Amino acid sequence: MLSGQILRITGHAGRRVGIGMAIALVSAGAWTAGVAQQGKVATEPGIPAEVYVPIPGFDKTSMDMAVNPCNDFYKFACGKFAANHPIPADQPDVDEFYALYNVNTQSLNGILKKAAAGGADRSPDEQKIGDYYKACMNTDAIEAKGLAPLQPLLDSIDGITSKDQLPALVGELQRMGVNAFFGFGEQQDFKDATKQIAIVVQGGLGLPEKDYYLRTGAKDETIRQQYVAHVTKMLTLAGSSPEQALKDAQAIMSFETALAKASLSVTDMRDPENIYHLQPIATFEANMPGVDFGKFLDAMHSPRVGELNNATPAFFPVMVKEVDAADLKTLKAYMRYQLLTTSAGRLPKRFDAENFDFYGRILNGQPEQAPRWKRCSNSVNGALGEALGKVYVEQYFAGDSKAKMVQMVGDIEAAMGRDIDQIDWMSPATKVRAKEKLHDVANKIGYPDKWRDYSKLEIRPDDALGNAQRADQFENDRQLAKIGKPVDHSEWGMTPPEVNAYYNSSMNDINFPAGILQPAFYDPKQDDAVNYGHIGAVIGHELTHGFDDEGKKFDGKGNLDDWWTAEDTKKFVERTDCVANEYGSFVAVDDVKVNGKLTLGENTADNGGLLLAYMAYMDRAKKEGVDLAAKKDGFTPLQHFYIGYAQNYCENSRPELIRTQVLTDPHSPDHFRVTGAIVNQPGFAAAFGCKKGSPMVPVNSCRVW
Ligand SMILES: [Zn+2]
Repeated sequence: MLSGQILRITGHAGRRVGIGMAIALVSAGAWTAGVAQQGKVATEPGIPAEVYVPIPGFDKTSMDMAVNPCNDFYKFACGKFAANHPIPADQPDVDEFYALYNVNTQSLNGILKKAAAGGADRSPDEQKIGDYYKACMNTDAIEAKGLAPLQPLLDSIDGITSKDQLPALVGELQRMGVNAFFGFGEQQDFKDATKQIAIVVQGGLGLPEKDYYLRTGAKDETIRQQYVAHVTKMLTLAGSSPEQALKDAQAIMSFETALAKASLSVTDMRDPENIYHLQPIATFEANMPGVDFGKFLDAMHSPRVGELNNATPAFFPVMVKEVDAADLKTLKAYMRYQLLTTSAGRLPKRFDAENFDFYGRILNGQPEQAPRWKRCSNSVNGALGEALGKVYVEQYFAGDSKAKMVQMVGDIEAAMGRDIDQIDWMSPATKVRAKEKLHDVANKIGYPDKWRDYSKLEIRPDDALGNAQRADQFENDRQLAKIGKPVDHSEWGMTPPEVNAYYNSSMNDINFPAGILQPAFYDPKQDDAVNYGHIGAVIGHELTHGFDDEGKKFDGKGNLDDWWTAEDTKKFVERTDCVANEYGSFVAVDDVKVNGKLTLGENTADNGGLLLAYMAYMDRAKKEGVDLAAKKDGFTPLQHFYIGYAQNYCENSRPELIRTQVLTDPHSPDHFRVTGAIVNQPGFAAAFGCKKGSPMVPVNSCRVW
């Protein structure tokens, strides 16, 4: 299901799951669900062999002091990180985000083991999180049941005799999170953020993004062959003969390729104007002759809507044409595959392992699947995140970190106000509107004011697949029930334990879950300098998203509304073009360069965020009488500040992950998030005594905010 919100996040998208599934702009909900399902496999119901500890906010062991910071600041701040942090076999990469994710997963696991072991005196939420975990961990029961839990749905797919039956069946599958044919969900109306409307959008692909089907070159040819082999294997495991499965997989590949050709790229999906086409339902249905869309809506448990956002209008006529042209047998095999890949984590190991082999090992280079306890802990977080998060917050969220965050957010918003006043390229009229938008930004820190009610969601201790399906149905119904209702501004798009943060354009809010408010990002043992460089730059990043190339198109009330003068937009675009060209020149892996346009919003946010954090720190240091010349551990406060920023993104990543990330993820690889932003920082040269013209202080630099 799609939440339809544009969420701009901090961490990169596929990391937590070790799966390179593309994150559609509009599908924040889909990723949580998709991820939870794609990521499961069962080996041993093992318990942590190691104990995870956080990386401190200032990590001198990762620095390479032999490197001149003016020549290569990433190497200076992070040069020894990779050697000190070999990538565990069950991860596609390691960095500060992943390190803290492991710590949090371990914490969640402790909560869940206790809840799973509890008796009849458990609270209703404890019963749900405990039994979900228990069923997920019970691989013996999962093996013993084989495909039986999926059989009713496989029979429904097998039993259709006419394409007229597809809308109801596709609705039933999508309601359980199966990515069949297209996406449907709920969103705030881009042009009237007080309204919640339905959205229909391209989808249905098994590879991460449209260009995986269309790009030429040996690497992509190989991935396509591997995908066909993977689909063949999954269908064979589910009972097809190898010959039939291969024929079906090839036909599925052709069908998906046709859908891909009619799809927008991840880069085009970033522009809100490209994906907003509000239309009466009759107009939408006129594009799909012979399709009874009402039956789909009923099966999805959606209200019968009078209008919707047809986000990708070019897609649907082609989809209908391809469905009409396809053999019913091919469409059945396609839905069977989509159902199997969605369910793989709760099926016997042979399905789970094959699914991981393609999405984890081949696409991300991860040699081994994460142990079951990690995957089950995080799928409870995906399914029941606010029930689990409530306990997590009680046990692990220190009150003083919230107070400090409130102060930092205030400092950084004040810095943005000064930044808007000072910039020389924006007209006074647009400055007034920019400051109005800044004033309207809502700050959400830690966890929601009111917790989600899961009382209608049934969780059983012995039904791993059914629990996942019911959780997906519950979430789907919860999202779709919003259509036509007023917006709940207290709602969160992430769960409290997540090591991430986001900005939502329609809500005009910045959100920092409790999970990220810990070392290394916020370290109460460190001085402000380190913390403003670390989490302060993350706060600035989210705030800047309200004013990046996408965010600038929305006003303070969350409406897509051009509040800029034409001249100001022209000057803004000149500045963002500079950033797009800068990052577009970085070679990420082999011959694959960073996509400057796909990553433009994130890179703008990194640059602006770091500058705002710097301004905020300077102001805070002045207020508190910090001696900016005094050294600690050999570094001045401003040196600590920049090292803190860089260490957010110290990384050790597998090349396969970097390739998948560069092709699908709007975030630049970690390394470039350091270099790309540092070279544009006006305060950096003085902090390290670098000469103009040195590699980190180029003569020409970029500046948006
Ligand atoms: Zn971001």
